[in-house]
Amino acid sequence: MSGALDGQTALVTGGSRGIGLAIAQVLASDGARVAIVDIDEDGAASAAARLEGSGHAGYLCDVGDPRQCSTTVAAVAKAQGVVTILINNAGITRDNLLLRMKDEDWDSVIKVNLTGAFNMTRAACRGMMKRRSGSIVNISSVIGLMGNAGQTNYGASKAGLVGLTKSVARELAKRGVRCNAVAPGYIATDMTADLDERTTRELGTRIPMGRLGEPSDVADVARFLAGPEARYITGQVLAVDGGMAM
Ligand code: NDP
Repeated sequence: MSGALDGQTALVTGGSRGIGLAIAQVLASDGARVAIVDIDEDGAASAAARLEGSGHAGYLCDVGDPRQCSTTVAAVAKAQGVVTILINNAGITRDNLLLRMKDEDWDSVIKVNLTGAFNMTRAACRGMMKRRSGSIVNISSVIGLMGNAGQTNYGASKAGLVGLTKSVARELAKRGVRCNAVAPGYIATDMTADLDERTTRELGTRIPMGRLGEPSDVADVARFLAGPEARYITGQVLAVDGGMAM
């Protein structure tokens, strides 16, 4: 198999399902060796085994733990090659109204969604800088751009990712490393599966294109930003949201 990403090693956090899995699939089908990193060890291994092509593997890693991130990046480099594409996708929600939000719900969302991306970026960028080549894509959210009642923790974490993206982009541009973000709107995954029918209908009216997105809608854009077609793009946030955040 040959593709535009031949010879690249791509690490996708939270890649055992949902948007992360869709990104892993599109990167693999374009020739990258993919490392699926997840807190679900069996899920990561079985997702990696089902990807197109060969040389993929799954890794158990909590992105909120800096030490696990360094160990995992080193293990990937040894087994699959230096990481040249990093997709910071792992994310969680712990929604509640501001006055009811518990300290642990704030802390856990910031730790996984924002600190997790920082941990992985810091661990992976050294190898990219040495090669003077690399691409980092952070999966933010329209909620980080627009805000949402009941999601102060999530919105802050996703807005934080925008600042992280732009700062990393400025810091590493001269070293040949790009960093961009995708801000998905409402995408049909397990994360949004709990929305009731009325909420989904209401959402449809707030989305100019009138429907929820699919994981592949986000994956194709992440693949674009990660790949050679986006070689002169860095520090950008691309909304993939059916027009929600115009
Ligand atoms: P899912 O909940 O379907 O998948 C999230 C994945 O991340 C799961 O595999 C999960 O593992 C993994 N994960 C959770 N915590 C950690 C951790 N600490 N370390 C490593 N992996 C972890 O989410 P989606 O696919 O819907 O979302 C993916 C990303 O896209 C998230 O960052 C989310 O915020 C963002 N996003 C999603 C939108 C949507 O509408 N779905 C909209 C905008 C942004 P496990 O299976 O064990 O739970």
